Amino acid sequence: MGTASALPFSDRNPSAQALSVHGRLFLIDCGEGTQRRIRQEHIGFVKFQAIFLSHLHGDHCFGLFGLLSTMSLYHRTAPLKIFAPAGFSAILKFYLSWFGQDLSYEIEHVPLKMKEPEEIYADKAVRVRAFPLNHKVDCFGFRFDEVLPEPSLRSIPVPGREKRGPRSYAYCSDTAPFPELPGWVAGVNALYHEATYPASFADKASQYFHSTTEDAARCALAAGAGRLILGHYSSRINDFKTYLEEAQAIFAETVAPNDGDVFEIE
Ligand SMILES: [Zn+2]
Ligand SMILES: [Zn+2]
Repeated sequence: MGTASALPFSDRNPSAQALSVHGRLFLIDCGEGTQRRIRQEHIGFVKFQAIFLSHLHGDHCFGLFGLLSTMSLYHRTAPLKIFAPAGFSAILKFYLSWFGQDLSYEIEHVPLKMKEPEEIYADKAVRVRAFPLNHKVDCFGFRFDEVLPEPSLRSIPVPGREKRGPRSYAYCSDTAPFPELPGWVAGVNALYHEATYPASFADKASQYFHSTTEDAARCALAAGAGRLILGHYSSRINDFKTYLEEAQAIFAETVAPNDGDVFEIE
């Protein structure tokens, strides 16, 4: 729902993604303007089962507080888990002290502190692991692995229809490259990896703990990902063809999406 980095634009919002897994809806990051994007994509405000915040930079969380209040206006009653870095508890406390008196549902903050991949959520359809990224502040990526039902003894294979394995998706924003990351997202069907800068801005990328197109593509290649999805484009750059071409030169199965693009993970 948002492909920009620091600033909102008329056609691009800061980071936010909705992930649907067998009817469960998860929100990953919540940049400013996400509520309007949820409206535009016709996703219900109260449908999110859990929220995953990678880190506490505004372009990843400034949209959250309005959304929390809107969920209450829509009479959400189901408790909401928010997975976020430890520092979020003070922000949530402040928010609740001013705006939480009549909130219609409970919010539980699950603090992220891990140094290695760790399972943080599991239900019948999906397991989620979080892992640290390499950014200026505490920042975490998320890997979603589909859980397929056990085959029943009575299930008869349909001729010609291949049985597929469980699907997986990983979200990596914001981060500079580091050696462990490809192993932690190994074999995912789709990898979202930030590419804030084109390759010619490599010095800026390392200065601000971000990645270039080539860093993202090298990670996807080393991980053996099925597809690479770029995003978190710098506000300094208007030439999106460069992002795509530079990444595709290293990893052909790359897409450089716009806000509103929808991907089936396969
Ligand atoms: Zn960011
Ligand atoms: Zn950041």
